Amino acid sequence: MTPSRYRGRFAPSPTGPLHFGSLVAALASYLEARQHQGMWFIRIEDLDPLREPPEATGQILQSLEAHGLMPDEAVRFQSRRHDAYQAAIERLLASGNAYRCACSRKELKLHGGRHPNHCREGNITPGDRPYAIRFALNDETSHWQDQLLGPQVQHVTAELDDPVILRKEGFYAYQLAVVVDDIGQGITDVVRGSDLLDMTAQQQQIYRALGAEPPNWLHIPVILNEQGQKLSKQTHAPPLDDDHPAENLVQALDALGQQPPGTLGKETVDTILDWGVRHWRRGAIHLTSR
Ligand code: GLU
Repeated sequence: MTPSRYRGRFAPSPTGPLHFGSLVAALASYLEARQHQGMWFIRIEDLDPLREPPEATGQILQSLEAHGLMPDEAVRFQSRRHDAYQAAIERLLASGNAYRCACSRKELKLHGGRHPNHCREGNITPGDRPYAIRFALNDETSHWQDQLLGPQVQHVTAELDDPVILRKEGFYAYQLAVVVDDIGQGITDVVRGSDLLDMTAQQQQIYRALGAEPPNWLHIPVILNEQGQKLSKQTHAPPLDDDHPAENLVQALDALGQQPPGTLGKETVDTILDWGVRHWRRGAIHLTSR
C-alpha cells in the first residue's frame, strides 16, 4: 500500500491552558489525519511573548498527552523559527509582495484605511520612523472549497486588508508564520476553528507569493459557551481537567456530532481515540456551533 501523503497539524497559540474548544479542534484534526492514514503534528505558535504566560506551552503539551494526542514528530515551536520568517519577509519585499508601513492605526482610520504616506509605493526607507511590514494583497474575489462548509467566496481588498506580517515591536505575525510553517512542514490539510475562516483567502495569496500551492481547508464550528460566546481565554473558558481525559474526549466526539456510545467514557483514552478514528465522519459535524 502506498503511504498516504496526508499531513495535518494542530497549531495552538499558547495564550493559556487548553480548554474544551481547543480540544475539539485538536481532536478533529487528529481524527481526520488518522482516518487518512496520514501524519499529524503539533506546532506551538508562540510568536508573542507579551500575550503568552510562560507556563502555557507546558500545560498545553501535557493536556494533549493526557488525552492521547501524540504527534508523529517532535513538537515545533514558532519561537525557534525566526530565521525562516525573516527569509520569507525578505523574499516578499524583493518580489514587491510586501512593503514597509509606518502608519499608526489612528492615521489609517482617519484615511478610511488608505495609507496617507503611500506605503505601498515604497516611500519608507529603513531608518525612518518605526515601521511594520505588511503583505501587499491583490484585489480578488477568491472562490475556494471548504471540506466541510462547501464552496466559499471571499473578497480581498488590496491596501485596506493588507495584513501586518512583521509588527513594529519586532514580532513576526500570525498571518505570515502560519503559512511559512505549513509550507515548511508540508501540511496538506488544515483543520481548524471557523473563527479563522475569514483569514483563508489572504493566506492563500501569501502561499502563492511564496511559490506554494495552498492546502485543503476544513473549518469546524467554534464551541460556544452558554452566553453564545466563543470559548477562549477572553471569555474565561475553564482549563481542561486532565484527570478526566476519557470524559473530555467523549464529550468532544459528541460536540463533533460523532454520536459516541454512552459506554465509551469508561474505556481508556487509546480505545476512545481508536473508536473515533474508525467511526469518524466529517459530514456528521454540526454546521452550527453550540
Ligand atoms: N495559532 C492559531 C490559533 O491558536 C491557529 C492557527 C491555525 O490553525 O491556522 O488561533
